[in-house]
Amino acid sequence: MADCLFCKIVAGQIPSAVVYQDDQVVAFRDINPQAPFHVLVAPTRHIATLNDIGPDDHALVGAMIGRAAALAAENGYAQRGYRTVFNCNAEAGQTVFHIHLHVLAGRSLGWPPG
Ligand code: 5GP
Ligand code: ZN
Repeated sequence: MADCLFCKIVAGQIPSAVVYQDDQVVAFRDINPQAPFHVLVAPTRHIATLNDIGPDDHALVGAMIGRAAALAAENGYAQRGYRTVFNCNAEAGQTVFHIHLHVLAGRSLGWPPG
């Protein structure tokens, strides 16, 4: 999608610290990290919000979650713990309308979230 920040990151038109990429997903460090480890796992294909996910996308979302778990484990957080978050629309704080799974780790994460 032409005006989408994360589509531009996927295409390499905007630089980012990519930690993983394949045909389906890309993972890169959040530019404003909220924890010592904070990466975003996004599909290479544009999907605006979780509300736009259909049955055909379930395998893709599963791949995103699996990649989040793998990245957490590779970085030493499997046992310590980590948090995965999809924000959807305004009240959840979504600011980039290309779905992405936040993976946060490296500090104690409070609950409930703000
Ligand atoms: P949301 O609020 O939509 O759930 O999360 C968007 C995330 O994207 C935020 O945590 C924000 O820091 C991050 N972000 C915004 N612009 C950029 C950028 O240009 N590069 C990277 N790597 N992250 C970004
Ligand atoms: Zn996009």
